Amino acid sequence: MSRSWFLILFTFFLTVHIALAEPLKRSKHRSHQNSETKGSADSNSNPLLHSEPATNPSIAAGVTDNSGRIIVPSDYHVKYDGAQVFRVTVNNSKGRKRVNDLVDKGVVEKWRSNTTSIDIMAKADKLTAVKQYLEKAKLTYEVVLEDVQRAIDEENPDISEEELALLTGRKGHRMTFHKYHRMEDIHGYLDYLAQTYPQLVNITDIGRSLEGRPLKVIQIISGHPNAKRFWIDGGIHAREWITPATVTYILSELVENREAQDEYLKKIDFYILPIVNPDGYEYTHTNERLWRKNRRQGTTCTGTDLNRNWGFHWGGVGSSKEQCQQIYAGSGPFSEPETQAVSKFILANNAKMKAFVTFHSYGQYILYPWGYSKRVPQDYADLDRVGRAAAEAMRLTGGGAYTVGNSAQLLYPAAGASDDWAKGVAKIKYAYTIELRDKGKYGFLLPASNILPVGKESLAAVKAIASEIYKGK
Ligand SMILES: [Zn+2]
Repeated sequence: MSRSWFLILFTFFLTVHIALAEPLKRSKHRSHQNSETKGSADSNSNPLLHSEPATNPSIAAGVTDNSGRIIVPSDYHVKYDGAQVFRVTVNNSKGRKRVNDLVDKGVVEKWRSNTTSIDIMAKADKLTAVKQYLEKAKLTYEVVLEDVQRAIDEENPDISEEELALLTGRKGHRMTFHKYHRMEDIHGYLDYLAQTYPQLVNITDIGRSLEGRPLKVIQIISGHPNAKRFWIDGGIHAREWITPATVTYILSELVENREAQDEYLKKIDFYILPIVNPDGYEYTHTNERLWRKNRRQGTTCTGTDLNRNWGFHWGGVGSSKEQCQQIYAGSGPFSEPETQAVSKFILANNAKMKAFVTFHSYGQYILYPWGYSKRVPQDYADLDRVGRAAAEAMRLTGGGAYTVGNSAQLLYPAAGASDDWAKGVAKIKYAYTIELRDKGKYGFLLPASNILPVGKESLAAVKAIASEIYKGK
């Protein structure tokens, strides 16, 4: 063999070796990153934690290039056949740590967590091992979602192209509240509203996402002198499909059903962004239904958690510096164009902005700052009172029961979230995160038949908060 051939072969084997070793290195690295879970001897001895390379679905499915970077084929569609969601009861920090170890290693994916339980999704090939692990750790659990793929297949009924075409002809847009729509339909509806109600509705592209999609804010202009302002957004977490649908529903009621609304509501200016994370949202439709972050390409993994990227106590507890984590805070505060654009726009318009509501799912909570620690703002009694008024209004629509409280105390600390920034930097008094339905039966995969009832109860919450800010408290 000639010397040059030997060198070529040697380089090839070296590259393959590095590429194969990378996921394992990354998974070892992770256990040291999460602030919630510093290593303990007994859980580290568990083989499930030791032997697992990263199992983020896009990693498992992807191809690794010679720098260790994951390349997922653009048409790859992640399937979740046989995957299940467990609710694990955790009544002490040791139990919590055991579950978080599984999450940090990428063996399971965390769906939701509060002070008493954690919901985790395990894919089919991990089910037995995860159950054994939980039993060995003496943790009680129940299966809350039997088959994730079946829930995905059933959540969003098809409307035929003919029906949609008919709708376009009849109404001038394709939007319905019977199914979850792609970004194009939602944006088409916003454009339609701006064209149809030019006196009332103003549409602004406040910036572009990483992949160049527009961030479209609708302003509903009351024309009332000294009108107070109210910010509403959805879709910062890609997989929480109920939130862009709900925000679009609220918008449609405020514009197209304006006569039916109370007078005070017509004297408030609304600023509404239905999809904060359009790249992630589209990706959940085309490739990976349970994607959460934006689509920032990292050196080891893709995506920044846009709700850990805000410049207020950025990088603190409940966020991660590790790219492969679901709560990766980004390379710095406002490292992402989406959070940059929204924060700039809000700061340019925050005079008289008195309310900020960002919709998430799931769990049915009305949460107020601070999220970065278990402290509460000085005026938390006002936030609590108005939050309770909103919850009561939601209940009166025949809707779900919503729990009101401080986010760090009720759920877990999460630094770098948008509501903290809205309160702490933009000085918007009534800043809330509302976690919509459900309580876990479907989780992120809430059937589209819920859009109308959730829309109605969310509109009731918005009205209750609007009524308070109108009174000037
Ligand atoms: Zn969320």
